[in-house]
Amino acid sequence: MVQSAVLGFPRMGRLRDLKKANEAYWGGKLSREDLLAEGKRLRLEHWKIQKDAGVDIIPSNDFAYYDHVLDHIQMFNAIPERYSKDSLHELDQYFAMGRGHQKDGIDVPSLEMVKWFDSNYHYVKPTLQDNQTFKLAADPKPVREFKEAKEAGITTRPVLVGPVSFLALGKADRGQSVDPISLLDKLLPVYEQLLKQLKEAGAETVQIDEPVLVFDLPAKIKQAFKPAYEKLTALQGSAGPQLAVSTYFGDIVHNLDVVDSALKNAYALHVDLVRNPEQLNEVIAHLGDKQILSAGVVDGRNIWKTNFKKAIEVVETAVQKLGKERVLVATSSSLLHTPHTLASEKKLDEEVRDWFSFASEKVHEVALIAKAVSNGPDSVREQLEANAKSMQSRATSKRTNNPEVKKRQEAVTAAMHNRQSAFDTRYAQQKTHLSLPKFPTTTIGSFPQTQDIRIQRNKFTKGEITPKEYEEFIEKEIRDVIAIQDELDLDVYVHGEPERNDMVQYFGERLDGYVFTTHAWVQSYGSRCVRPPIIVGDVSRPEPMTVKESKYAASVSKKPMKGMLTGPITCLRWSFPRDDVHQSVQAQQLALALRDEVVDLEAAGIYVIQVDEPALREGLPLRSGSEREKYLSWAVDSFKLSTAGVQDSTQIHSHFCYSEFQDFFHAIAALDADVLSIENSKSDAKLLKVFIDEAYPRHIGPGVYDIHSPRVPSEQEIKDRVEEMLQYLKPEQLWINPDCGLKTRQWKETKAALTNLVNAAKFFREKY
Ligand code: GLN
Ligand code: ZN
Repeated sequence: MVQSAVLGFPRMGRLRDLKKANEAYWGGKLSREDLLAEGKRLRLEHWKIQKDAGVDIIPSNDFAYYDHVLDHIQMFNAIPERYSKDSLHELDQYFAMGRGHQKDGIDVPSLEMVKWFDSNYHYVKPTLQDNQTFKLAADPKPVREFKEAKEAGITTRPVLVGPVSFLALGKADRGQSVDPISLLDKLLPVYEQLLKQLKEAGAETVQIDEPVLVFDLPAKIKQAFKPAYEKLTALQGSAGPQLAVSTYFGDIVHNLDVVDSALKNAYALHVDLVRNPEQLNEVIAHLGDKQILSAGVVDGRNIWKTNFKKAIEVVETAVQKLGKERVLVATSSSLLHTPHTLASEKKLDEEVRDWFSFASEKVHEVALIAKAVSNGPDSVREQLEANAKSMQSRATSKRTNNPEVKKRQEAVTAAMHNRQSAFDTRYAQQKTHLSLPKFPTTTIGSFPQTQDIRIQRNKFTKGEITPKEYEEFIEKEIRDVIAIQDELDLDVYVHGEPERNDMVQYFGERLDGYVFTTHAWVQSYGSRCVRPPIIVGDVSRPEPMTVKESKYAASVSKKPMKGMLTGPITCLRWSFPRDDVHQSVQAQQLALALRDEVVDLEAAGIYVIQVDEPALREGLPLRSGSEREKYLSWAVDSFKLSTAGVQDSTQIHSHFCYSEFQDFFHAIAALDADVLSIENSKSDAKLLKVFIDEAYPRHIGPGVYDIHSPRVPSEQEIKDRVEEMLQYLKPEQLWINPDCGLKTRQWKETKAALTNLVNAAKFFREKY
């Protein structure tokens, strides 16, 4: 029998229940007990969905209140002292590390949060000390949750982040110099203890994730696998559970020597065959004699129905070589990156609905493919035929194919990618045109999305207020944020994005070729969820998308108003992209649509235009080499194509939510944006060194404070930060701004923080 396995299930619940419960708890409106009870309810519901679908191997410990890596940080007591010293309750300490804590005289910023591989999920970075020790928590979460499922009659396979990935994804704390992987010896006993406890609780198998195996690994990380897995696999069967070592989001062919030397004794090896089906044969050739292959054939990262015929072929290939007992049919990765259920979508038209499959549907797919391979296609004939029909419908639909768009793509020339003049010439014109002070201050686009904004938007969506009433409301919001910016004395204004629910969805809803959902939320970080629109066909812009609001904002503002767009790569990456057309083609279609918008904004009197590309980096192929160069070349081209249509006097900004540009600096420079705003408050100012080293001539606003946390930075803190930056950037290059948009913040902290920010900028204006 071929068994089916799921690597992880989304945590939020059908109606983002976890988000609501977490936020209520943080706001003091829900008790700790009630939050914990809600978590328990959700876990149970998710296990049942999988059990009812007939999944054989159901994960536990995939649930997390905030983030699963943070769960491990706490469980291993890798807790920096600043979080442990105030003896907060364990749950509050956990959230303090995830989102900072500023209450009852305690004031700690959060740990750094970064993208999980090339996804839009963020994990909390293990942050380690030179004298780091580890200690397993009493009653560790994976054991607790395994027992909880067992009590409900469901035997699960607990999921752990493996020790090598845990360390390799971590970093030394500020002021520390420890190389995380050097801590392996200290960490392993904790894993051994944990595995023993899981075995005692009845767990026969544990999924141990080592996704770093898809990277190009430095030698010392590669070498760490051997001692780690010698110890952990030695426990298998007797003192510990069997280990299913899991990789995803890439191939592991370049690390098969690690499989040979360290992982052959593990009970199973999971690989992602959606992303890299071509690795199958080579991986099989390196398996141990009895080792099981877990074949990830159901996409954990996208919403398309699985093509059963193709998936079955892949699994059959493996079965021919290994036999049915040695193959598992699995999701390619955790389903964390997919929405909860298609059943909640009441507004999708039938044609496209038939093409989709969300988490609750994918678990059925996994079970069905396993059944088809185990019992022969006749056992599921009807489902296979229906599936083939859906595949056919999508491939031949008019919605996927727009000849006008194709024609326009064919007419794109090289010249369309370049601004008229070089930066010096452009800047000379922009300076007089915009009359900006030194150290200009600005924000990244959004201001707090208040309850009132959400209520009005909801009413509008439901038809309870007229378009005119809604427009008036938005205009009032715009006037309000402009008044606040006047008061704060900022230099380049924004309209605040009150009309936008989300920076990508908003555009998706205004572009042809997209469909959008009502409930397809995916966790981005902590309680924050996004609802990626879906690119189903060729993309084009039927009419202007942002001009009305920006033009209005400019008309009531005495300072330059910055237009605000989401760039082509971010639109692509934060949507569910098509899987039937190369992403470079989709990016170029988006770029052409945005180019028209940029030109229209300029014509409407908007002379500063920011095109956000926070997703540029996460799209980087995980391995360096030619794949990466290819990606960067089409990604940079699409940004340039979208922005190069303006006059020299119009200033193009771009924004990124990170500052680690070292490995692709040439691409950032090639964007030729006049001003870049980047994250920097939580990373080291040293990262800015690359800008001097490479003699970067244009302007930069490294974020001076962290907007992910409600904490208010003091004026002094901001000044210190700017001083640090000035070691690496010229005073005339530097803009002063927060790290990112402010939509998730409250007004109170926003005003306080920006007041300090403007004062700090004024201080430097005096000084230089
Ligand atoms: N302009 C967007 C905002 O301010 C940028 C968001 C982002 O970079 N993630 O909300
Ligand atoms: Zn950002």
